[in-house]
Amino acid sequence: MSEVRLRFPPSPTGYLHIGGARTAIYNWLFAKKHNATLILRIEDTDVERSTKDSIDGIIDGLNWLGINWDEGPYFQSDFLNEHIETAHKLIESGHAYKCFCTKEALDAKRETAVAAKITYQYDRTCLKLSPEEKEANEKQNIPYVIRFKVPDGDGSVVFEDKVYGRIERTYMDIEDFVIVRSNGTPLYLLSNVVDDIRDRITHIIRGQDGLGNTPRQILIYEALGAPVPVFSHMSLTLDPKKAKISKRSHGEVVTVQFYKENGFLPWALVNFLVLLGWSPASDQEFFSQEELIEAFSLEGMNKANSIFNYQKDHPKFFTDPKALSINAHYLQTMPIEELAPLVKNVLQNEKLWDNAYENDKKDWFISTIDLIRSRFHVLTDFAGPGRTYFSDEYEMDPKPVQKNLTKHEKIGVWLGLLAERFESLPDFNQEETERVARELADELDIKPGILINGTRTVVTGQAAGAGLFDVLLAIGRDRVIARLKKFSAQG
Ligand code: GLU
Repeated sequence: MSEVRLRFPPSPTGYLHIGGARTAIYNWLFAKKHNATLILRIEDTDVERSTKDSIDGIIDGLNWLGINWDEGPYFQSDFLNEHIETAHKLIESGHAYKCFCTKEALDAKRETAVAAKITYQYDRTCLKLSPEEKEANEKQNIPYVIRFKVPDGDGSVVFEDKVYGRIERTYMDIEDFVIVRSNGTPLYLLSNVVDDIRDRITHIIRGQDGLGNTPRQILIYEALGAPVPVFSHMSLTLDPKKAKISKRSHGEVVTVQFYKENGFLPWALVNFLVLLGWSPASDQEFFSQEELIEAFSLEGMNKANSIFNYQKDHPKFFTDPKALSINAHYLQTMPIEELAPLVKNVLQNEKLWDNAYENDKKDWFISTIDLIRSRFHVLTDFAGPGRTYFSDEYEMDPKPVQKNLTKHEKIGVWLGLLAERFESLPDFNQEETERVARELADELDIKPGILINGTRTVVTGQAAGAGLFDVLLAIGRDRVIARLKKFSAQG
């Protein structure tokens, strides 16, 4: 079998957004599955909008996601001469021609057609020029565009899209389209095909928004005598109001960078994105890399557009709740030794890291992150709600403060007494701390929950978390007593 080759060709006119990442992921999965070669090609011919920052951002985002490629990055702008030469070859072979019509002349014809309610198509004035007329125009240096000559007759372009099925467009429906502008620059439609031929691309997996280009691009392949690749167009991912996603209207939440900077695990994002537009044959939701490569196939691609259902008012994190729950799943179940360095990174960024966590306090560190992760969704939670385990400066959530502390007039005194009981314990462990807390509640004739919730609020600042007596052990005797006493002293 001949080599299978795919490409991911982003235009570097912005950050890597989730739609682009999803396209890259599908190409990568297909390439891995078929032992194929994946090429990264930067389509940077729109010089005004392409930026170096954007190229760096795309490469950084792909690297972070773990999407690797085998060749490239190649840059489309390095091949502009080849694109133009190809257009001239097409003229020589009778598949293209120079068009000298002025914009004004074309506009006038279009207006006439519109007024008569006829669909406008270029009328091939310049195809009909005699050799003498052409020569005269060239001598006078009249500017021209190069148009592709669509085959005559009532034939059509037909192809089998792997997702959308058989697609047919009649030649009559396609106007002789421009492939080189009057300023001598090639159109994207042409450059893209010339590059794909040079890169020997056999399979094109791209967004459904490319579908409109495909019949014209196939005509170019055929005119050049090149094999036509297999096309698969993917459904789009839209916002909750079914509008196209863009950073301008949606902000950071649609960029890969946002997830990198806000405590997502790259594989969790890959797992989430792949399910936006593809369904596995089983109802499996979480996949290892090997499982996903094994399970992926173009047959599972959905025709219907998917919704990136991000929720601005989500209480935990501003994204699609499904993305968050997939991330939480990985964070809560991944091997703890793999999680530890990621937590270290977060704590270092927040100046909460202590080298002892890798030496004498290593066992404590590992068991603590294992205890607290069961409630966490993103890595940054270790420095947010998890801060209380690594610092004495942590925020107090006003809700539990009101409910568990302010509401009880004598809570300061009670928690002061509890601190004393803790102090006199020979062994500060879950059973003992629970026992004395319940005993004290009994003596004070109050519900144990009052002491338990009050203690949790004081030592963690939060309403909920892991079991309180596990929490106390993790925070440690001295810190628990000091925090309770400080609170008690404040009255
Ligand atoms: N550069 C195009 C884009 O970013 C790629 C289109 C294609 O895959 O052919 O949309």
